[in-house]
Amino acid sequence: MPCEITVYLTGESTLCPHAALTQCADCRAELCQAHAIECEVCRMYVCGDCIIEHRFSHDQAEQKLRARA
Ligand SMILES: [Zn+2]
Ligand SMILES: [Zn+2]
Ligand SMILES: [Zn+2]
Repeated sequence: MPCEITVYLTGESTLCPHAALTQCADCRAELCQAHAIECEVCRMYVCGDCIIEHRFSHDQAEQKLRARA
């Protein structure tokens, strides 16, 4: 499977030419090594579009735990 991330080369958008090694844990897009971002909390691979919301969801879960304690 090829990587599903769109990259911008000389002003034109094109699909990343690398082979996918893993999948985004959130949106299931195929990701090559360069586009797979490892979440430092759960060690899952997430794409650049999802990583901000993914980290935010961990923050919220942590805040709920703290509120309960
Ligand atoms: Zn994603
Ligand atoms: Zn890629
Ligand atoms: Zn995570």
